[in-house]
Amino acid sequence: MLSLRQEITGLKAYSPGLSIAEIQKKYSLSRVIKMASNENPLGLPPLAREALMRHAAEAFRYPQGGNPRLVEALAARHAVDPATLAVGNGSDEIIDLLIRILAVPGKHNLVCFSPCFSIYPIQGQICGVEIRRRPLKQDFLFDFDALLEAVDQNTRLVFVTTPDNPSGHCPPRAAVLRLAQSLAECAPDCLLVVDEAYMDFAGDEKEHSLLAAGILPKNTASLRTFSKCFGLAGLRVGYAVLPQKIADGFWRARLPFSVNILAEEAALAALRDTEFLAASREVVLSGRAVLHAGLEALDCRVWPSEANFLMFRMPEGAPTAAHCFEALLKSGIIIRPLTSYGLPDHLRVSVGDPQENKAFLDAMSRICAAAPSGRPA
Ligand SMILES: *Cc1c(COP(=O)(O)O)cnc(C)c1O
Repeated sequence: MLSLRQEITGLKAYSPGLSIAEIQKKYSLSRVIKMASNENPLGLPPLAREALMRHAAEAFRYPQGGNPRLVEALAARHAVDPATLAVGNGSDEIIDLLIRILAVPGKHNLVCFSPCFSIYPIQGQICGVEIRRRPLKQDFLFDFDALLEAVDQNTRLVFVTTPDNPSGHCPPRAAVLRLAQSLAECAPDCLLVVDEAYMDFAGDEKEHSLLAAGILPKNTASLRTFSKCFGLAGLRVGYAVLPQKIADGFWRARLPFSVNILAEEAALAALRDTEFLAASREVVLSGRAVLHAGLEALDCRVWPSEANFLMFRMPEGAPTAAHCFEALLKSGIIIRPLTSYGLPDHLRVSVGDPQENKAFLDAMSRICAAAPSGRPA
C-alpha cells in the first residue's frame, strides 16, 4: 500500500491569506481589497515592470547558475562578502534549505517562539526535526531567556523574526546581539536565524538590525525578501547573509535554477528603484499611523508595529474577531484571521494605500457599531 512518511501524515500545511479571485467569486463582488498578506500597497516597482517586459523574450533560457549578478548587487547593498550571500525562491526556500543542510532528522532540534511565522515549524516537521517552541511574553514581547533554556547540544537552529509576524514587535539590535553571544557560548554548533522580512519598515533600521549596523555575528544569519517592500511577492525572491561555510553548503544543496530569469531581472531592477523604495516606506509608515489611530478610536486594542501590518483585537462587547473577518469579506475587504497562529481573538491587517485604509476603517466602524457578538441589531 502507498503510504506517506509519518511526518507528512500529521502535517498541517501553511494556510495563506485568501486571494482576491476567491472572494470575488464567493460574494459576487466586482472590487475586492486585499490587506491580508503584507504585500506592497504601491504594487510593482516601475523599474521592475520595465525589466520584466524587456527581458520577457529571454524566458526560454535557463538562468545563469548561482544568480551571480544578483549576488553581487546584494553584497554591494549590504557591504558584505559575496561569498556570504544566498538567494532563493522566496525566503521560504532559504528557511527550508537551512533546516535541511544543518539538522539531521531524528537527532537535531530547532527552537522558535509560539506563535511565530509558521514556515519554521512546518518545514522543520517535514524534515523530521524536533521542534521546540517557547511562548512569547505578555504583549507578544520576546523572552530570549526562555529560548536559550530550550537550547541544548542538539539544537542546530534558533529562529527569531524581527519585526515579528504577526505582532509587529521589534526588539533593539542589542537584545538580538546578546542572544547571539549567549548561543555562541552555550551551543557553538547552532545558527541563529534572524528573519528580517519586514526590516525595511522599521522606524530606525540601524537601531534594529545587526545586518544594517554591519555587526552580524559569526553564528548569525539575516534573512531578507523581495516580497514586501520591494513589491515582488509573486515572483518569489528572497536572500540571506550567512556564515560563509553555511552559504557554501546552501549553494551546493540548492536546486540549480530556483530563482528564475525574470525574477532575477526584476529583483535587480527593484534594487535600483530607490524612488519606489522610499515611496513604499513612506506610504507604509504614514498608513500604519492612520490605521493605528483609526482602530484605537474604535476602541480596538492595537499592538505597536514596526512592520507593514498591525495586529489588533476587537473591543469588549463588540462582534468577535471571526465575525469581524467575515463581515469585512462581505464588504470586499480581506484581512488575516490569526487562528492558524493559535490566536483566534486577534486579527492582522496589512497597511494599504490611503483609499484602502479608509475603506477598511469605514467598514470597521460599521462593524463595531453593530450589536454585540455579531447579532444583527
Ligand atoms: C512574508 C514573510 C517572509 C517572506 O517570505 P518569501 O518566501 O520571501 O515571500 C519571510 N518571513 C516572514 C516572517 C514573513 O512574514
